[in-house]
Amino acid sequence: AVSIKLIQCAKTFANGAQALQPIELEIHPGETVVLLGPSGCGKTTTLRLIAGLEFPDAGGQILFGGEDVTDLPIEKRGVGMVFQNYALFPNMTVGENIAYGLKIRKMPAAERLEKIDALLEMVQLQGLGQRRIDQLSGGQKQRVALARALAVEPKVLLLDEPLTALDAKLRETLRADLNQLLRKLGITAIYVTHDQSEAMALGDRVVVMERGKIAQIGSPRDIYYRPASHFVADFIGTMNRVTGIAGDGRLRFGGGQLPCDTSSVGLRATLMFRPEDVEVVADSMGAADMQGEILSTFFLGDRTRLLVDVGAEQAVVVDTGRGASWQVGERIALRVPEHALLHFQDEVVA
Ligand code: ADP
Ligand code: MG
Repeated sequence: AVSIKLIQCAKTFANGAQALQPIELEIHPGETVVLLGPSGCGKTTTLRLIAGLEFPDAGGQILFGGEDVTDLPIEKRGVGMVFQNYALFPNMTVGENIAYGLKIRKMPAAERLEKIDALLEMVQLQGLGQRRIDQLSGGQKQRVALARALAVEPKVLLLDEPLTALDAKLRETLRADLNQLLRKLGITAIYVTHDQSEAMALGDRVVVMERGKIAQIGSPRDIYYRPASHFVADFIGTMNRVTGIAGDGRLRFGGGQLPCDTSSVGLRATLMFRPEDVEVVADSMGAADMQGEILSTFFLGDRTRLLVDVGAEQAVVVDTGRGASWQVGERIALRVPEHALLHFQDEVVA
């Protein structure tokens, strides 16, 4: 497997749109890195730069295994690509689609057939080599696209929102299969998505992007528990924000107070924390940070989610265990362990 390095890679399009600010990114051999971010943040542009479908602005450099590939076109980079819209040849069979690149490389027919069978098995489409593309489901089409991309044994596999067009259930199945396959192959892979749960499930590391910049690079755990900014915290998962007035190491709001180490006394500040980090405590113990009234309850099967009005600007989302049964209108006392509280200085507003 090959490493990939982007050095000061920016991209300005002919119309003057700067899709990417200069970014630095290092991807280890065999690693799956997910580019995650809202629509328009520059994920596809980054992927296309790595593919050789676009070229960085002057000064940018791209290395594969230490070798400078900045000026090499896609066919010289040894990359395989999978797109959201499959991009299969509709008038060819599944087998012909998969073997397209092999035929161009003049692999003998017998060898090709063997290879097609192996690839069909790899993507769990055994025996479907003769099918026409229009006879396949969306999920099957994406498996064919994956097999086609892998057929030429690329050094790098690039996937741009490959599961976005599929329905939720299928997306989860394919995500799990893809996860196993990428691990088994040990290929360096870059996966673009705007879906944070997909990013967490697939990425060894996740690169969160925001308006043409990298907001954070880290393991799914890092990104979730130690978001580097307000933007990342908000983008990944559900995040509570409680705004109040800071002072004496506390943040005060209508329904209580939370520890908040800030020097900005008397100013508005915001604390953030995850729904699953909120503990429900018995009121009488005096252990509560805040109290409030339950506005809604959502039974989610594996947990129950409560929406609680704690007298702050936004209701607090609380995830409780399966057993708990709460009623709308009930009073509830809550505690948030200090380690679960995030405070971003940039949120302090005078
Ligand atoms: P993402 O994949 O994260 O949705 P893109 O990389 O496709 O984002 O696009 C990033 C920004 O660059 C967007 O504002 C988009 O409109 C712009 N952009 C993308 N491709 C082109 C292009 N060929 N010409 C001009 N602007 C483009
Ligand atoms: Mg895109």
